[in-house]
Amino acid sequence: MQPRIIDFMSSVSKHQGHPYAVSFNQRSHKCNICGKYFTRKDNLQAHLKMHIEDPQYECKYCMKKFYRRDRWKYHVLQHKCI
Ligand SMILES: [Zn+2]
Ligand SMILES: [Zn+2]
Repeated sequence: MQPRIIDFMSSVSKHQGHPYAVSFNQRSHKCNICGKYFTRKDNLQAHLKMHIEDPQYECKYCMKKFYRRDRWKYHVLQHKCI
């Protein structure tokens, strides 16, 4: 009598985000910060580095923060145009 094991296996197949289900779902590598999906784990890890390592660019006019320098620059330029 091993009902616990059967329950465990069925719950794994229901929850695609479970670590044991990763190999069955090709697009299960999800970024917890922005919600983007990746097919490969190393792609996700490279993406996560962007969130962690990049300095947060802050707009000195409205204090809005940006992960990407190009977006930050574009945003600040819009303040200067006014
Ligand atoms: Zn992300
Ligand atoms: Zn701003």
